[in-house]
Amino acid sequence: MSVAALMVMMVSACSTGTNAGGYGASPGSSYSEYGGRTVYYGSYGRELPHSPGYSVTPPQQAVTPVSVKRLSSNKTRDRLGHRPGPKNFSTVIIDAGHGGRDSGAVVNGVSEKTLALDVARRLRAKLRGSFKAVFIRNGDYFVDLDKRVRATHKFDDAVLVSIHLNHSRSSSVRGPETYYFRVDSYSLAKRMQRAMSAVSSREKSRGLVRRRLRLTRNPQIPCVLVELGYLSNSAERTLLSQVGYRDRMASALASALKAQKRSGDGGMGKLPAPLNRPLSRAGDSGGL
Ligand SMILES: [Zn+2]
Repeated sequence: MSVAALMVMMVSACSTGTNAGGYGASPGSSYSEYGGRTVYYGSYGRELPHSPGYSVTPPQQAVTPVSVKRLSSNKTRDRLGHRPGPKNFSTVIIDAGHGGRDSGAVVNGVSEKTLALDVARRLRAKLRGSFKAVFIRNGDYFVDLDKRVRATHKFDDAVLVSIHLNHSRSSSVRGPETYYFRVDSYSLAKRMQRAMSAVSSREKSRGLVRRRLRLTRNPQIPCVLVELGYLSNSAERTLLSQVGYRDRMASALASALKAQKRSGDGGMGKLPAPLNRPLSRAGDSGGL
């Protein structure tokens, strides 16, 4: 089967395309640095080989560079997100990854789609009184990635948090990871990665990654995708199977959201440079 055909299957199996399973990911790293072979367990119920040698979609639109400083409004949607991060926002859109026929990663009966929804519900409970919370899926059913993006379009003054669990071919890889692409999503992503790493205290905080994905590039609001940990690592899978651990992870995400609401980008350091890139599409490399 061709690499292109396998890519389509792989994207369907773990549709964020983030369960890439490499160690040493860092901001600015390219996808090929992940290397190796990653196994995806999706609705197809079998291993799907991962090739790092994808084609990269050429730019499809001319985009005028915009200074971050010129755009200061947090209150409206913005196509590119070249602006400071949100402050005093009212709404958190919570996206539980996968669902229905798309299980995401499944190891020893522990299913990504189920744990992601559980953490999403815990997060919603912890945001009560601080934010309006909106769910994209609130049950075990499939929602297409582009439909998830469209669901965010009717909200202003909101951020999106997409919740996933990771999988690697290497059983030693573990630790939470956080993906962002837009400038206005950087500080929230950094806060979330720090907070999750504090819960998972054996981890280095290595996992903040800038990557153009459907759910980090295409929404018109700040958007972050978190991977709570690796189901393929037995110690981390045991932790993630525990209600108390998942509850602490949900608390970590909630505290990051509240800190972002209170302080905006304050204390989070220099914002990354704006990147003008086309919308992410199915079959993209998932790189910058
Ligand atoms: Zn996933």
